[in-house]
Amino acid sequence: MSKYIVCLTFDFDVMSGHIARGRITPTPISRGEFGIIGAQRIVSLLKKYDITSTWFIPGFTIETYPQICKEVVKHGHEIAHHGWTHVPPGSMNRDQEESEIIRANEAIMNLCGQSAQGYRSPAWDLSPNTLELLIKHNFYYESSMMGHDYLPYRVRQNDVINLQKAMQFGNKTSLIEMPISWSQDDHPHFEMRNDLNRSGHRNANSVLENWIDDFIYMTQITNWGIITYTCHPYVIGRGHRMLMLERLITKLKELGASFMRMDAAANIYDNLEPLQTQTKY
Ligand SMILES: [Zn+2]
Repeated sequence: MSKYIVCLTFDFDVMSGHIARGRITPTPISRGEFGIIGAQRIVSLLKKYDITSTWFIPGFTIETYPQICKEVVKHGHEIAHHGWTHVPPGSMNRDQEESEIIRANEAIMNLCGQSAQGYRSPAWDLSPNTLELLIKHNFYYESSMMGHDYLPYRVRQNDVINLQKAMQFGNKTSLIEMPISWSQDDHPHFEMRNDLNRSGHRNANSVLENWIDDFIYMTQITNWGIITYTCHPYVIGRGHRMLMLERLITKLKELGASFMRMDAAANIYDNLEPLQTQTKY
């Protein structure tokens, strides 16, 4: 196995993100529906290259489209937690957030017979309660934070934040952070958002060049690392972007990448750097 690990992750939101933002007219619904077409193309591409990946699937998608979700499971991909409604935790109170965690866990258990090891918050927006709830519900890793680009780390809890004072960092927990970045997410590069006055629609090859360079830089400055790319089937599933995804896979393979599911990558980090003590930073 290579020292350089790539986690391809797919946030399988279909129309849930649009509904959570109140966009429920036929066009945004159909825009999300295209995710089913994209998902089929992605599953087939990953099969061609014998790659397993991680799919963060809201309970909404699992219960709306059980068949395609079963296909994803059948091909050996990991199913991880992405809320039930795709409402960001930051806009829910603790009870609402916990009931979403439980409800989506039940949907995942029904789908694949296992509970989710990993969690990614909708819109990458954790609430003040999320980390404590993830630990309470026995999650192994979390993937919504940006504190590193190539190395997982242990999630801290109970930081004291006061604008007029230096940060007081809380204790490390056993929860593993598998960090992400908006720059390695297809959505902001490609997807039009009228509400944000964002046109998206970047040239896929320019994004590809950035994504490859992010991998190359990892090989230059680290002895070992993990890089995570995040794609949405309804975004990456369009023709020119699917060609970009295939070029990304072939180029990273050429550069010596090992592709794996995020639970497996988190496990490698856990074995390399076991949590010794609850030390403060
Ligand atoms: Zn999402």
